[in-house]
Amino acid sequence: MVAELISVGTELLMGNIVNTNAAYLSKKLASIGVSVYYQSTVGDNKERLKKTIETAISRADVIILSGGLGPTADDLTKETAAEVLGRDMYLDERSMERIRKYFEALHRTNITENNWKQAMIPENAIILDNNNGTAPGIIMEEKGKSVILLPGPPNELQLMFEESVIPYLQKDNYKVLYSKMVKVCGIGESKAETIVKDLMEAQTNPTIAPYAKTGEVHFRITALAQSVKEGKELVKPVVCKLKQRFGDAVYTTKEEVTLEDKVVKMLKKRGLTMVTAESCTGGMLSSKLINVSGVSEVFKAGLVTYANKAKRELLGVRKKTLKKYGAVSKETAEEMVLGAAERYNADVAVSVTGIAGPEGGTEEKPVGLVYIGCYVCGELAVYECHFTGTRKKIRETTVVTALNLVRKMLLDF
Ligand code: ATP
Ligand code: MG
Repeated sequence: MVAELISVGTELLMGNIVNTNAAYLSKKLASIGVSVYYQSTVGDNKERLKKTIETAISRADVIILSGGLGPTADDLTKETAAEVLGRDMYLDERSMERIRKYFEALHRTNITENNWKQAMIPENAIILDNNNGTAPGIIMEEKGKSVILLPGPPNELQLMFEESVIPYLQKDNYKVLYSKMVKVCGIGESKAETIVKDLMEAQTNPTIAPYAKTGEVHFRITALAQSVKEGKELVKPVVCKLKQRFGDAVYTTKEEVTLEDKVVKMLKKRGLTMVTAESCTGGMLSSKLINVSGVSEVFKAGLVTYANKAKRELLGVRKKTLKKYGAVSKETAEEMVLGAAERYNADVAVSVTGIAGPEGGTEEKPVGLVYIGCYVCGELAVYECHFTGTRKKIRETTVVTALNLVRKMLLDF
């Protein structure tokens, strides 16, 4: 199989950015036995791009284009490639939905009109999901040749190449795709990637692809194999290596298991009951736990004690403590968690008090300062955390962190 690369972008021609995509793609293709005879770079110019695509189609089996899939007017790769192959375009509902979700996850509501351009798909194309951005990738097959369009930003291109293009190029050699997920919590995204960077770079089959979630990083390990049995054999040692490196930050290797599932399972296994006392998360923590079916066996109560008065009356936090240290303090978190455990006669309790912002921060107690109290069978720990982002993000990160802290404490019981 012979592949040819076309890098699209005037920025590349001007020398404003270095063409790392071509280097990455060539290296990856070589590693899976695909030869590359030509690479070209072309500016954001329709006529010249058209000629370049036509030439590539005349001499290669697989043509991979990178860049120019975005929302702006200079992004014309898709339109041009569709034109060369004589395909009309349509607005793909599923891609629109994915773009909408992507913006939602970033807490951006002002999706400008031009973004929907990214959901325009040439007819009879295979759509490649973009799990790191908005523009989907595209494969068009024509007379035994494949024209593959990938987004320009390297993190988007690389993840899509690993997840979708390699399996596509190898589809005739392999029958199954087998994958496992290693879910890591309590280690930041960039740190987590650094810990396994060497493994990620060295692997081609299976591949290791990271996904950043709020407060978590998930690694998908995917093997191409002749059978499920072979897939399992290929994936297993890699999962073991990741588990070794991340230690107890790994909470599951099962795709369907969430952090709250894990916590509830641990409580059930140990026969323990739990209660939550929340301030700034306003019930999000208890709501997460209640996502888990069958939680009623272990979950006794979730208290939202927002005002000081509620903290006093429902949890027995002392007036003196609130006055001296404030509602957002180690001392208050401690009295909240102990009060909750005692009053509701629970083995495990978690308390949360913090400043979610955007207002209300001071130099001493900035926005994002959160105290999380954890009580497990007589043992108490209060953690001081500093989170960043919007109010929503801070609250969501707090919930994930609180669940992870109880999980870690439960490991010793
Ligand atoms: P976007 O949706 O971000 O506009 P796109 O698919 O339209 O993505 P481009 O607009 O061509 O891609 O490039 C976007 C960015 O991706 C560039 O500013 C550059 O940072 C990076 N990029 C593009 N092409 C390459 C390349 N060949 N090598 C390395 N980085 C690249
Ligand atoms: Mg662009």
